[in-house]
Amino acid sequence: ASFAHFGFDDKLLKTIIKAEYTSPTPIQAQAVPAAMMGRDVLGIAQTGSGKTAAFLWPLLKHVSVQRPVEEGEGPIALILAPTRELAIQIYMEAKKFAKVYDLRVICAYGGGSKWEQSKALKEGGEILVATPGRIIDHVKGGATNLQRVTFLVLDEADRMFELGFEPQVRSVCNHVRPDRQTLLFSATFKKKIERLAKDALDDPIRISQ
Ligand code: AMP
Repeated sequence: ASFAHFGFDDKLLKTIIKAEYTSPTPIQAQAVPAAMMGRDVLGIAQTGSGKTAAFLWPLLKHVSVQRPVEEGEGPIALILAPTRELAIQIYMEAKKFAKVYDLRVICAYGGGSKWEQSKALKEGGEILVATPGRIIDHVKGGATNLQRVTFLVLDEADRMFELGFEPQVRSVCNHVRPDRQTLLFSATFKKKIERLAKDALDDPIRISQ
């Protein structure tokens, strides 16, 4: 497989090549075409598989054709990650590719300054990377809302559950409009994740490494 088969525009392809990615990883080869068609994806994938780019590229395509977020509006794409470290990693990778389309990325994690995050959220950004507890806090506090979210990513869902975030993850899923596109990634596929997939995904394409 090659990146040329994904139907990306030249600007994104150039940035991928500049990042020295030579060919898609197996997860990317499977997840990108499914997600670009607008399908929900259930991906069993480990860290290091290239899963971040696998959800970011279709996310960018989805977001880039929509009206920019105005002050006071919530994000169009929401990525939930279990930890501050992973949220920051995703944020860095998202920024690398989002600048191609002049999209703004905001990162909100537990332990970071609530005030600074609130300020960024109120100014508005198209893409939000967040940990589950912190996003709920910001929605409750009125810094942002989930009304415009139409692309939802649950990354490392098994770790989010292990860290006790199941109620927050489910709460987010229940507050985002049901006709959204959802991508769920997990390193393992246990009963609890199976149940989440059943509740949060609509006829997903299943992929694994
Ligand atoms: P991830 O599994 O998303 O955490 O990605 C692991 C690492 O692989 C990150 O440093 C990415 O920048 C890098 N990466 C992602 N996709 C590719 C690719 N197609 N070719 C080479 N490196 C990649």
